Amino acid sequence: MTLSQWDRRIRRANELTSTYPFAAEGLRFYSRVATFQKSLYEEIQKALPVLPKILSDAPLRDELDLFALLPKFPGFLSAIEQVAPAPLAQAAVDLSQKGAAVWQRVIQDFWLAEAESPAEVSAAEEDATNEADEAIPSQRLLAWIFLQPYAEYLANRRAPMHLDGTPSLCPLCGGKPVVGVLRSEGDGAKKSLICMLCAHEWNFRRIYCPACGEEREPQMAFYSASEIAHVRVDVCDTCHTYLKTVDLTKTGLALPVVDELATIPLDLWANEHGYRKLQVNLLGA
Ligand SMILES: [Zn+2]
Ligand SMILES: [Zn+2]
Repeated sequence: MTLSQWDRRIRRANELTSTYPFAAEGLRFYSRVATFQKSLYEEIQKALPVLPKILSDAPLRDELDLFALLPKFPGFLSAIEQVAPAPLAQAAVDLSQKGAAVWQRVIQDFWLAEAESPAEVSAAEEDATNEADEAIPSQRLLAWIFLQPYAEYLANRRAPMHLDGTPSLCPLCGGKPVVGVLRSEGDGAKKSLICMLCAHEWNFRRIYCPACGEEREPQMAFYSASEIAHVRVDVCDTCHTYLKTVDLTKTGLALPVVDELATIPLDLWANEHGYRKLQVNLLGA
């Protein structure tokens, strides 16, 4: 992924603000977040040495350059404070007052966690800390937003790898998929998934549940709405999980990660029908 990838995300978020007014507030926030992430990506690129792409089987999360990242964290928190909705802005204020040792713990905890979504903090984990219940998911959300550019930077330094089979978690960093993609191939379409953390995209099977491995066709269905024809909800009736898939054969203009954020009515439909999202997005939907 190059710098222009950030610009494309920002531009797409701005475009969709008028297409989907119901998502405008979230998209404006995302656009500001992506603007900050773009500058962080540029700083990381400058701070770390230019190396040739590496062929590595080591998990991406083995690397964490706190020396380069920690000094950027206070600036990130004050940027979030200015653009985020009230609860997240307050969480950024609270965290900014806690100092470097806590920042480091929050960053490390997210980086080392096995790709759990911020909304899925277990009761046991909450009991294990003295923080207010609300504070923990917000802190993890902040760490997630902050670490995305670094994770993408590391992912972009990896040479393309050969995949055996179709893993349900990101083959580079172990993150969950945040959105699926359909791209034209021959007469049909091939499916891939995009990682919630490092944005790596890997090939996936058309009919296969990334949550439970279900592959029987009647259990794997999808729902779509005529007003949002290029995005569908892939549901699994075995584990009641869903993930949206952006169909690029229907429009080449879409940018899966951003269109996923904007298509809120599909999440409402899925929730009303008892499906739980495989990976909550940055806006908490
Ligand atoms: Zn990843
Ligand atoms: Zn399933």
